[in-house]
Order: sequence, then C-alpha cells, then structure tokens
Amino acid sequence: MNPMPEPNPLLSTTELPCYDAIRPGHVMPALAELLAQADAALEKVVSDDVPVNYDAIAAVLDVSVERLRTAWSQVGFLQSVADTPEMRAAHAENLPRVIDFYTRLSADPRLFAKYKALAASPSAATLNPARKKALQDALRDFVLGGAELEGAARERFAAIQERLGALSQSFGDHVLDATDAFDLYVEEAALDGVPADVRAAARAAAEAAGKPGFKLTLQAPCYVPVIQYATNRALREQMFRAFSTRASEFGKPEHDNSAALAEILALRQEEAALLGHASYAHVSLVPKMARSPEEVLAFVRDLARRARPFAETELAELRSCAAEELGLASLEAWDRPFVSERLKQSRYAFSNIDVKQYFTEPTVLDGLLRLIETLFGVSIQPGEAPLWHPSARFFRVFKHGESTQPVAGFYLDLHARTGKGSGAWMDDARQRWQRPEGQLQTPLAHLVCNFAAPVGDKPALLTHDDVITLFHEFGHGLHHMLTQVDELAVSGIAGVEWDAVELPSQFMENFCWDWQVVQKLTAHVDTGEPLPRALFDRMIAARNFGNGLQMLRHCELGLFDMQAHLLPDAGQRVLALAREVSAEVGIVAPPPFLRYPHSFTHLFDGGYAAGYYSYAWAEVLSADAFSAFEEAGVFDPATGERYRQQILEVGGSRPAMESFKAFRGREPKLDALLRHQGLVAEAA
Ligand code: ZN
Repeated sequence: MNPMPEPNPLLSTTELPCYDAIRPGHVMPALAELLAQADAALEKVVSDDVPVNYDAIAAVLDVSVERLRTAWSQVGFLQSVADTPEMRAAHAENLPRVIDFYTRLSADPRLFAKYKALAASPSAATLNPARKKALQDALRDFVLGGAELEGAARERFAAIQERLGALSQSFGDHVLDATDAFDLYVEEAALDGVPADVRAAARAAAEAAGKPGFKLTLQAPCYVPVIQYATNRALREQMFRAFSTRASEFGKPEHDNSAALAEILALRQEEAALLGHASYAHVSLVPKMARSPEEVLAFVRDLARRARPFAETELAELRSCAAEELGLASLEAWDRPFVSERLKQSRYAFSNIDVKQYFTEPTVLDGLLRLIETLFGVSIQPGEAPLWHPSARFFRVFKHGESTQPVAGFYLDLHARTGKGSGAWMDDARQRWQRPEGQLQTPLAHLVCNFAAPVGDKPALLTHDDVITLFHEFGHGLHHMLTQVDELAVSGIAGVEWDAVELPSQFMENFCWDWQVVQKLTAHVDTGEPLPRALFDRMIAARNFGNGLQMLRHCELGLFDMQAHLLPDAGQRVLALAREVSAEVGIVAPPPFLRYPHSFTHLFDGGYAAGYYSYAWAEVLSADAFSAFEEAGVFDPATGERYRQQILEVGGSRPAMESFKAFRGREPKLDALLRHQGLVAEAA
C-alpha cells in the first residue's frame, strides 16, 4: 500500500474544506479514524463517566459525530460534482460502514435512556427553547423508531420494518421492470405530430435492437411527447393503457404490485398500532407541520372545492376544442394531454428561445444577489476558497455594514459537465453551531445547478425555468445560512418539519413571476434591453393554463394517499378507494382499467406516505408568505427583515406553524396560491 505521509485533508481542521486536495485514497483512512472516534464517543456518552447534562453530552457525542458527518459530506459532495470511478468506489466502499454507524446511533437504547434521564432531570427546565426543541425531537425520533417497545412487540416491530423495507424495494423494482418490459415497434406514418428528436431517438432505439421501424417505450422522454403530440389516436390509447396499468394484474404476474399494496398498507397500520397511534397517517404526521389527518383532509378538500369551477371551465374548453378543431366526438383520458397541448399552442405560443436571450447568467445572478441584500440586510462578496473545478465559485455573506466577520459562506457551481450529477440542489457543507469548545461555527452551503455553460465570449443564457431553479435553491441556502440558532440539531434547515422545508425555497420562486423583479433580472444578450412586458404577460398566461385540472388531479392523489393510510381496511380495497376518491374530487369518470396506485412509488417506495399533500401545503405557505411582500412592496426591507427573523433565522428551533404565524400574524390561507395560479374569479 502506498503510504500517505502528508496530512489527510479530510481530517483537516482548516476554516474551509480542502476541496482541491481531497483524493480517493484519503477516504478510507480518514473514515476509519472518524468512525472509530464516533464509536468511542457513543460508548463514552452512554457510560457513567458523562453526567446527565446537555453540554456534557454534546461535548462528547456531537463533536465526534459532527466531524464524521462533515468529512463524509465532503466525500459525497465530491462524488456528486466531480465524479471519478475511484471516488465513486471509495464512496461505495465506505457507505455501508457509515450507514451502520448511524443506524446504531439512532436506535441505541442506552443513548435513549440517557436523553430520557436528561429530560426528566431538574436541569431540563432551565434549557433554552432551542435546546428543549432539540431534546424533544431526539426523544420523538427514538419513540417513532420503536425504542419504547418491549418483548414481543419489539420483535414484531423490527420484523415489520424489515418486511416493509423489502416490500417497498420490490414495489419500486416492479414498476421499473414493468416500465422497461413494454416496447412497441411502429412505422414512421404512425408517428405523425411527434417531434423530430423523439422520432430520431425511437429510430435509434429500434436500430440498437436490430429491428426495423421505430421503438416506443414507456420511459418519460418517449411516453410524454407521444401522448402529447401524436395525432394517431389509437396509438395514444395503446400507450396510455400500457402506462396506466403498469405493475398491475393486467401485466406480467411477476410485476404485479396488487398483493404488495395490500400488505404494505396493512403492515403500516399494524406498526402504527404498536406505537399506540390510531393509524399510520397519525404516525406520519407526528414530525410534520400538519397537526392531524383531519386537518390535511380538510385542507385538500377545500383546495379541490375551490379549484373545481376552474377545472370545469377548462374541461369544457378542451371538449369544444376537441370537437370543433380536432373532430373528436368524445374526450377520452388519452386525448386530454394532446388536446391540451394544441389549445395551449394556439393560445399562448411563445418561444422559449426568445425568452432565453433576456436572461443572461451574470444579470440574473447579480439581480438575485442584490435582491437578497436589499431584503435580508446582508452583503454578499466573492471570496477565496479551495475549489473542485475552475468554474465553481465561493462567496461570503456579511451582515449589512460589516466586512470582517462573515455570517456564512456558499459555493456556487452552476454549469453542467461530465462527472457531475444532474439536477439542482442545496446541501449543507457545515451548520451553524455554538461549539462546546467555545467558538461559533458559521454555516457553509453548496448551491449546485446544471445550467448550460457559456459558449465563446458570450454570457451563458438561462431559461426562465433555470432562473426559477436558481431562486429555489437559494431559498434553501438562505434558510441554512441566515439561521441564528446555536444548536446543531435545530439550526438552519435541521429539525424543520418535513412538510415545511420547501417553504423558503418555493417562496423565492415567486420573485421570478413578479414584473418589478423580472425587469431587474433581464438584459438582452445583444441589446441590453429588459424583457418586453407583452412577452412576460404571455409567460404568465401560459403558466396558468390548465391549473384547475392539475390542481384537482393533485388533490385526488393527496386524498387517496391520506385515506389509504387512515382507513383501517384500505389495504383490502385499494381500487374501490381510488374510485371513491375520484368520484368525490374528480370531474370525469376515470377509465375503469386505470391502476395508478400500482405504480405510485411516492407512497409505496418513497418517503411520501401520508405526505403527498405536502407539495400543495408548502406552496400555500410560500405563496401566502410572498403575498405579505406583494402587500408591502416586493422590495420592502421591513417585511424582508420580519421574514428573515421569524422564518429564516429560527430554523427548526420552534414549530413551523409558530414561525409562520409570527411572520404573517395569522395561520396560512389558500388565497394567495389560488390567485397566483389564476384560480380566482376576476374582479368585475
Ligand atoms: Zn427544494
């Protein structure tokens, strides 16, 4: 083995991570040392050597676990932005060891006992609110993980967890396999209306399979354009049927999720009963902002009731377009995306290529940073830091009027390239923490996107969707960076309820639809002119097209999810339940063959069980928060300061509902979201 005499950068205690120096060979030795330290800290903290005292526990356990977490997050981050086979292997090799440690940490009965003793000790009453919340959260998570169960109940709980893990894995595999199992070879004539690039891909896929014609699949890049653009109605129907019956009894028996659906739902109810809750929906909501299944049901139903008249109007428009312009006597499920696309094109067509010319990356970024400075009383300056790629950048955030002590820092890596994972995300490189040793640790954020890089000497151009993505990730970043909470477990986005985490990110998106802001974000790449108002108005109209039907569909799925996890017998009557929900919320009877629950991976192989409502929930919160800015003026610093103090600074140190009420002066209302989406009657 090659000796590594120089200091290991993953063990470095410099102010900033050594992103230019970390090599795959550093991972194993660093992790070995950090895991050993963390293990030793866990053993020590549960012993009598460490008194039942918040600071004493943090000084031993949190210091070690934080060191492990920081180093491991640097490895994971480099793997996602500067992937090499060696770094990937180093990550994969160490991942099981890291998971094993965290699994043991989160289920250690001795640690649970220590936290319980702390909560019961006289010193608990003297803890500040952030520490109280951190302790409560820790106890709650132990309880939800079954730590209080004993004997047969404990064994059964563990068996249920294991079985559920296997079932959700195979549920997801079946959906993937059923999707992949379908192919359809057609002649070119059958593809009338389908965009040329999709046809070319279908032709290439057929060639690769050694067959003539064009190969169609149920993968999104093929299915979506075919269902939207193919003029061939029989083809649309065939594709729609295949797609919406995936992993059901209509396909191959080995991909059928019918039995898994019933078993997953039944096991989740049994798990809830063991934990002493009325249903799995109740369990799911314990760490969430929504207070009860009844509250969620009322929320979803209210949203559906208010969207309904707009959905009915939209459906009538689709029907008349289908009949008058396309000669379709009836509007079937497989016609709706197609007719909808036609109607949208004829009404609101504009070119995304035209729009892009106005959103140059430097202008957008500058406009965004100045907006943040104006609203949140900070100044943002480029800084020096070790980086992983020449196009990555580093910035420091200062309190307004200060220039020596930064409150936070962030990395910006905007351009797509080989070896970089797709999508956009914010993750925390380091959290704010008043360390037990005395110094204040300031937060660091990674903000990563995959936009087109500049070509030649022209600036990079962003689509409006790119701009929205950038604002979204900055919203998460601000939540992480502007926190004033000193406790690791509840500072920034840590400890924030799962259904409230997207509030600050979706909040920022609203600025991209505000004319006063958009003017400052745009300068035509050749002329420097801001975006013309008429083009912006068409963008708004296109954004709102079809929102009523979409909202209803969303409510239908949200209601199905909540009822499936609330009603005790749902597992035995999944299809009947889906039909009842559709009859309650929908405005068209769905085709009888529809089997969407069988491929609903969000609920059965993802983290959204009894949580699907959270998409709309967070949108309501963020739209309502933004409406405070619409009332006071979008650049109003006083509203910005209140938002910073009541939402961003407090992080997870108190319930999100309290934070929202402190900012808005009342509980959230649906009105702003409905108004932004064009789902309110226009004033006469
Ligand atoms: Zn997000």
